[in-house]
Amino acid sequence: MALIEAKKISKIYETGEVKVEALKNISFDIEPASFISFVGPSGSGKTTLLNIIGCLDKPSSGSMFVNGTDVAALDRVRSSMFRGENIGFIFQDFNLIPVLTVYENIEYPLLMVQNVGEEERRKRISALLKDVGMADQGNKFPDQISGGQKQRVAVARALAVQPKLILADEPTANLDHASAYMVLDIMKKMKKEFHTTFIFSTHDPKIVGEAEIIYTLEDGELKKRTAVKKSKKAKGGKHA
Ligand code: ADP
Ligand code: MG
Repeated sequence: MALIEAKKISKIYETGEVKVEALKNISFDIEPASFISFVGPSGSGKTTLLNIIGCLDKPSSGSMFVNGTDVAALDRVRSSMFRGENIGFIFQDFNLIPVLTVYENIEYPLLMVQNVGEEERRKRISALLKDVGMADQGNKFPDQISGGQKQRVAVARALAVQPKLILADEPTANLDHASAYMVLDIMKKMKKEFHTTFIFSTHDPKIVGEAEIIYTLEDGELKKRTAVKKSKKAKGGKHA
């Protein structure tokens, strides 16, 4: 079964007299454990689409099945429950909580959403810190680490509840290229390890090819689906 099935998704924003057709009749399927990118210029509809997949917003018409549930049809309470249990988020500006340490930031969603015991939390967080190359940084605060490191913490935080799906809206927009590739490498590695589907949006053509499948949006329309050859290797930046 597909993890995501979008069926004829349209979204119209109405502000006063003005109507913006942000998404126009979009349909696609995404398989479990995929590494997907939505690409397109600013204003093409990437954020709107990710927000609909992530139950943060509703389409004007169409259905969006995520793991068999039509999230477009859920009410507010169910949306937020579904989101907490099934979806992790990574943001352009990291959104780490400044008064919490790196360790506590990763722990936070585990305390908020799931009833995971202390021992299990400690195990999970230590393993994640190691996975993202931050094993010795757990006690630092967000303002003591670099942008690339912050985003690696955000990847670990998104994985903490072991979601089926992680959505990352322009996760590399505030990173230099070496850090951007490193963050994408880690997401790819995590995808393999946990069989999590990662969907990231970008308008940076240089990092697009890191995805397995690229969907191109233009002016609210899904213009193209491109499968990237597996052998294609990332260029640029050291991956130390
Ligand atoms: P992208 O993420 O690709 O830059 P968006 O999904 O943010 O694109 O925006 C798609 C279109 O919808 C744009 O024309 C944008 O101005 C419009 N839009 C986005 N959010 C809103 C909103 N809350 N109200 C009105 N128009 C919006
Ligand atoms: Mg956007």
